[in-house]
Amino acid sequence: MSNTFLQTPVEYLKGVGPQRAETLQKEMGIFTFGELLTLYPFRYEDRTKFHNIKDITPELYTVQLRGKFVGLKMIGEKRAKRLSAIFRDATGDIELVWFQGIKWITGKFKTDREYIVYGKPQMYNGKWNIAHPEVEEVTEANTRLANPLQPVYPSTEKMKGKFLDSKGIARIIKPLAILIQGKIPEILPEALISRMKMMNREQALYQIHFPSSAESLQRAQFRLKFEELFFLQLRLLKTKAFRQEQFKGFVFSTVGDRFNEFYKNYLPFPLTNAQKRVIKEIRHDTGSGKQMNRLLQGDVGSGKTLVALMTMLIALDNGFQAGMMAPTEILANQHYQTISAMLDGMNLKVGLLTGSVKTAQRRELHRMLESGEMDILIGTHALIEEGVKFKNLGMVVIDEQHRFGVEQRAKLWSKNTQPPHVLVMTATPIPRTLAMTLYGDLDVSVIDEMPPGRKSIKTMHKFDSHRLEVFGFMKEQIKLGRQIYIVYPLIKESEKMDYKDLEDGYESICRAFPLPEYKVSIVHGQMKTEAKDFEMQRFVKGETNIMVATTVIEVGVNVPNASVMVIESAERFGLSQLHQLRGRVGRGADQSYCILLSSYKLSSDAKLRMSTMVKTNDGFEIADTDLRLRGPGDISGTQQSGLLNLKIADLAQDAQILQYARNAAGEILNEDVHLEKPEHQLMKQHLTEVEKFQANWSRIS
Ligand code: ADP
Ligand code: MG
Repeated sequence: MSNTFLQTPVEYLKGVGPQRAETLQKEMGIFTFGELLTLYPFRYEDRTKFHNIKDITPELYTVQLRGKFVGLKMIGEKRAKRLSAIFRDATGDIELVWFQGIKWITGKFKTDREYIVYGKPQMYNGKWNIAHPEVEEVTEANTRLANPLQPVYPSTEKMKGKFLDSKGIARIIKPLAILIQGKIPEILPEALISRMKMMNREQALYQIHFPSSAESLQRAQFRLKFEELFFLQLRLLKTKAFRQEQFKGFVFSTVGDRFNEFYKNYLPFPLTNAQKRVIKEIRHDTGSGKQMNRLLQGDVGSGKTLVALMTMLIALDNGFQAGMMAPTEILANQHYQTISAMLDGMNLKVGLLTGSVKTAQRRELHRMLESGEMDILIGTHALIEEGVKFKNLGMVVIDEQHRFGVEQRAKLWSKNTQPPHVLVMTATPIPRTLAMTLYGDLDVSVIDEMPPGRKSIKTMHKFDSHRLEVFGFMKEQIKLGRQIYIVYPLIKESEKMDYKDLEDGYESICRAFPLPEYKVSIVHGQMKTEAKDFEMQRFVKGETNIMVATTVIEVGVNVPNASVMVIESAERFGLSQLHQLRGRVGRGADQSYCILLSSYKLSSDAKLRMSTMVKTNDGFEIADTDLRLRGPGDISGTQQSGLLNLKIADLAQDAQILQYARNAAGEILNEDVHLEKPEHQLMKQHLTEVEKFQANWSRIS
C-alpha cells in the first residue's frame, strides 16, 4: 500500500537516477520518495519579477536578473582557477563566477541568447558578483510562469554540482508531487481534520511545494506543522500514560520526623511562597501512587537546592533513600557541602560519589548504599554506573537537567524494580514551547519568585578599550570586601587558542592586581580535580579576591560574597549562557554587577544579545529571545535533540499550533490510550514509524 510507495528509493524517480540519488543521500539524508517529499522549501520567492543590475543593494538576499552574456574567461591558476562571466542587462554589468563545474559551463552559454540568472549577490573588491548562480535560458515556458510563489529549497555545493540547486530540486519534486495524488492516506483522524478545518495530507504535501495561492500555502503549512507537532506530542504523552500505567509510584504517605525536624530547627530562612507551592506539588505527586516525573524550573538563585533537600527528606521519612545527581564534580561537591551543612546536627548519613572517589572508599559507599545505612547520596554520573545499588531508592533529584539525556534518566529507573520518583531541576528557564517538547512527558513546576532582599544585578556592556576603567571598578569593589569572577569563553573548536587567551588573561590580571594586595585564583577544565577543588575552595573561603575561570563555573556554583561577574569576549557566548554566568553573582545582600566586555565590532545578533542582557534580568524573557536567535537545537544542548529535529514546525513561532497539537493528542489518548479504535489505526501506524525513525536517529547521534 501507500507506505511502500513512499518508501520507494528516490533513485527510481524520474530525473534522479543512481548518481543523484547518492548525492541526495549523502548531502541531505534523503533515501526515499517520502523523505524527498518532506524536503520542504524554506522560502518562497516571487520569480515573476526581475531586478535591474544597477539597483542591486546589500538588502537583497537574492536577485533575479534577465540579460545576456558578453564575455566568459578563465582567471587564476590550478586550484584557484575560476570561470568569470560578464552578464549584462539594460542597466549595467555584473560578474558571475564559478569555481566548480567549469568545464561543463564553458560550452553552455551563448552570447546571442537571453538568460535568466538567479543567485545571491556579494560584494567583492567593491563590485557585485554572484557565485554559482542558477542560469536558465529564457523560453516561452519560463516567461509565462505566472505564479509568484516559487519554492526555494536548501542545497549544497555538491548538490549544485549535480544540478540539484533549488530549481533542480523543484524539477524532481514536481513529478513526485503529482505522482502521489491518490496514494497518500490521511493519518490524522477524520474528526480532528474536520474540527480543525485542516487541509488533507495529500493536498498539503502538494501545496507546500507548489502553492496555488498564499492562502493555500498557509493552510498547507498549518496542516504539516500541526501533524509534525501532533505526533511528537502523541509520543510524549503516550510515554507518560504508559509509564503511569506500568509503574506504580512509591507512596509517600507521611511527612514525618526528618522533614518536620528540619523545618522547625534547621531551616535557615523562611521559604518563599513559590518554594512552598512547589513542595506542595511534589507532596501531592509522591502521595498519589503514581510515579512522579516533575520538571522544576526556576531561575538561577531562586532556591531550588532547598526544595530538593526537603523533597529528599520526605523520601527518608517514608523509609526510602534519596539520590541527587549533578552534571559536574564541582557542583556535586558543592551540593554535598551545602546539604551536609544544612543537615548538620540531624542524625543522617549523606555521601558523595564522583569519578574521583578512590576504590576503597567507593566500596564502602556501595556497601552503605546496599545495606541502607546511607540516607542521601549526592554525586555525578557516577551515581548511575553499573555497580551502584541502593537498598531502596525512592527519590532522585537531577540538577541542571539540560546536561542529562532521556536515556540517562531511564537508566536511573533501572536502579530499582520499581522506579523512584524523579525531580528534574533546571536553572535555564526554557520557553514554554521548548519545555512542552523536550520535557513533554514531565509535569512542570515553576519557582517564579526570588528569595527576599535580593537586589537586582546591574549589567553593563563595555568595549575592550575600556578595560582599565573596568579594572578600576573592580579594585573599588575589592576594597569593599567583595569578590570577583572573570570568565573566558571556551569553545571546543578553538580550544587551544582559548586556553591561550585564558592564560594571557590570567597573567595580565595578575599584573594589574599584584600580590600581596590582591590574590587571584584560576580554574579551568584542564586542571586536575584536586587542583581545581583547591582553587575553588580558596575562593569560596574568601582567601582570593578574583577567580579567573572558564565556563566550568557556569552552573550552580554559589559564593554569596562574589558580587561582580566580568565576562570576557561576551559576544562569543549565547544568551542563556550569559544569563547563567550572571546568576553566579547577586546571591548575597550586596549590590551585584555583571560587566560584559566585547570587541567593538559586533554582529547584529551579538548586539541584540548584549542589549537584552543589559535590559533584563528575567530568565524567561531571555530564553525567549535566545530561542528566536538560535533555534531550539542549540539551546537545549542535549542529546535529546532528536526530539527537536523538526522539519517544518518552528518552536519559536508555532507556540499556538503546538498547544493545539498537544491538546488534540491528549484528548485522543484520554479516550483511547492504546489507540485501538479503528479510526486511530493509520495514526497508530504512523506513530510507530516516527518512533522507529527517532530511535534510530538517537542511536546515531
Ligand atoms: P538555585 O535555584 O540557582 O539552585 P540555590 O538553591 O543555590 O539557587 O539558592 C541560591 C541562594 O539563595 C542560596 O544561597 C540559598 O541559601 C538562598 N536561598 C534559598 N532559599 C531561600 C529563601 N527562602 N530565603 C532566603 N534565601 C534563600
Ligand atoms: Mg542550583
